[in-house]
Amino acid sequence: MSGPVTTEDVAPEPDVGHAEACEVELTESHVAQVGDLQVRRALPRRQRRTVGSWCFADHMGPAQVRAGEGIDIGPHPHIGLQTVTWLTDGEILHRDSLGSEQLIRPGQLNLMTAGAGVSHSEEGTAYSGPLQGVQFWVVQPEETRHGPAAFEHQPSLPEVELDNAVATVFIGEMDGVASPARRDTDHCGFDLALRPGTTVVPLREDHEYALVVVEGEVQAGGAVVTPGHLAYFGTGREEGPLTVREPARAMLVGGVPFPDRIIMWWNYVGRTRAEVEVAHRDWTDGSDRFGAVASPLARIDTGPPPWSSELG
Ligand code: MN
Repeated sequence: MSGPVTTEDVAPEPDVGHAEACEVELTESHVAQVGDLQVRRALPRRQRRTVGSWCFADHMGPAQVRAGEGIDIGPHPHIGLQTVTWLTDGEILHRDSLGSEQLIRPGQLNLMTAGAGVSHSEEGTAYSGPLQGVQFWVVQPEETRHGPAAFEHQPSLPEVELDNAVATVFIGEMDGVASPARRDTDHCGFDLALRPGTTVVPLREDHEYALVVVEGEVQAGGAVVTPGHLAYFGTGREEGPLTVREPARAMLVGGVPFPDRIIMWWNYVGRTRAEVEVAHRDWTDGSDRFGAVASPLARIDTGPPPWSSELG
């Protein structure tokens, strides 16, 4: 659920720019098995690296988990990004190097800001039952990416009643209804619980958007969007009509196209290879930069970046 990004997802550096506005661009997610969980990575893909400042989206589950199982991701580092954890079913325990220990349940938001460095774990609990959710990453802008780490938990988020849907605003705002969550860039994230019929979602013309369907199927922009895909919509739209025949659940994320060229590798987002290499050396060396997580799980490590000349 929390990465890492591999070269199977994208090359560490961009090879294409932003696509021009189009009706809808559908890309298939990269399906991976993480323990007992199926994870469908919708972002990044070769064809689509970012949507606004959103740079990573893992749809986890649905799965049936037993107590103490399900998700078991030991301490690992991040730089230059925010993790946005949002569940539709089940629960997960978050621990980080700031000393946070926070259970998250559906309808709640865990938002961790990495800045110059943080580490965290994501663990199963005594919960048994269905587990499903999405973890996103948001690129931090130059102004905050070298700054301190932070963690916040939002126990309840505002909702907007739309025709045939309820939108929960977990990041940003819709129709003047705003999430209390921190934002370092101009971006938004909505959880849409769709009922049969058509829902017109208000959009901003200066935002690009992507839809990740987690349950059911959604007709959008002439395409039928199902779990395991990312539907991308370019800028220049005032509204997004979504039609479903059966109840469906989808996440709509968007924002002003991110202006900087970014480098993503493993659990790091940076601007240069050198800074990613330094971060990884600091993690491997057990530097204070990433602190310590009070987790029973073993810390996660990996070899050097693929471009690195280091051996092993
Ligand atoms: Mn993580």
